[in-house]
Amino acid sequence: MSRFLDKRYYKLAPYVPGEQPQDKKYIKLNTNESPFEPSPKVVKALNSEEVKKLYLYNDPTALDLRKTIAEYYGVKAENVAVGNGSDEILAFAFNAFCGKDTPMVCPKVSYGFYPVFCEMFSLPYVAVDMKEDLSIDVGKFYDADGNVTIANPNAQTGTLLDVNEIEKLLRRKKDNVVIVDEAYIDFGGESCLPLIKMYDNLLVVRTFSKSRNMAGARLGYAIGSKGIIEDVEKMKYSFNPYNVNRLTQLAGIEAIKDDDYFKFCTNYIKDVREYTVNKLSELGCEIVPSKANFILVKLNGTDGENLYKKLKNEGILVRFLSDAQLKDYVRITIGKREMTDILVAKIKEIKRGLL
Ligand code: PMP
Repeated sequence: MSRFLDKRYYKLAPYVPGEQPQDKKYIKLNTNESPFEPSPKVVKALNSEEVKKLYLYNDPTALDLRKTIAEYYGVKAENVAVGNGSDEILAFAFNAFCGKDTPMVCPKVSYGFYPVFCEMFSLPYVAVDMKEDLSIDVGKFYDADGNVTIANPNAQTGTLLDVNEIEKLLRRKKDNVVIVDEAYIDFGGESCLPLIKMYDNLLVVRTFSKSRNMAGARLGYAIGSKGIIEDVEKMKYSFNPYNVNRLTQLAGIEAIKDDDYFKFCTNYIKDVREYTVNKLSELGCEIVPSKANFILVKLNGTDGENLYKKLKNEGILVRFLSDAQLKDYVRITIGKREMTDILVAKIKEIKRGLL
């Protein structure tokens, strides 16, 4: 820290992204990336003619991309905002809708960035306890004072709330914004997108990082009522109007158009998730039921940190999370089936005390 940092940031503990070590080649199951490359249509569209256009600014309204997303989901372009990853969209939304007297209320175990945004923007943050089984206790949000952000499926745990439960929450909190972060919804959950036509307090946030295989392109989007999208865009135009670069806008359009590839990839991940859960359960692991592209896994006789370290030694990266309630677990991204086979073989050896 230099002597120039403003004192309001002394306490700020930044978000720690999953490690991306370069020392050797790992089987990377730690950051919930897709094991698949972007659609071949994306690869084809990002040709040298497009690269040559980088001397020009990109379209700040990202209109073609917003129209493509809107058409796919049956809404209008005015209902869609795009961002440099969904992290940026979330940052805009937290900033737009929370304030000194309007906290952000989130589940205690969820995406680690939510409390960081609040600290960064000096917004009050309220964490709501989980149920015993690590699922979200929606009822506890009804009377909490402030806006709500819920990841569905939830980050870190993978548990899913059904749309009825979210609708009840929207009714109970009609004077607050409810952000539903659907980063992982394409892996088997039912989206609450249809509800945006009925509830002007709903903002659904999505990403191309997981189910559309484009984490490195940094593309996220939000869908909501016209007014709520205008508020998000007010933040964007006050911070970085050119937030989604030229190549990423093109890539996003092509990724949405290649629905067959999207379905192939997400179905594959769902199948491998089931396969992985079965194999690890046979070994006696406890697994939190997940509708995401990751699972939380506990191996009796060892804690999460130890399991993480042993797997890393063996060339497999998984994520150990610092939440007190997750200390017995590691979070494992679902990759290709052959990655699961190596993972299962290694966990078997760890269980036998061989590693
Ligand atoms: N929301 C949740 C729940 C996440 O897990 C992540 C990824 N770590 C994000 C948002 C951010 O994704 P991105 O910025 O890559 O779109």
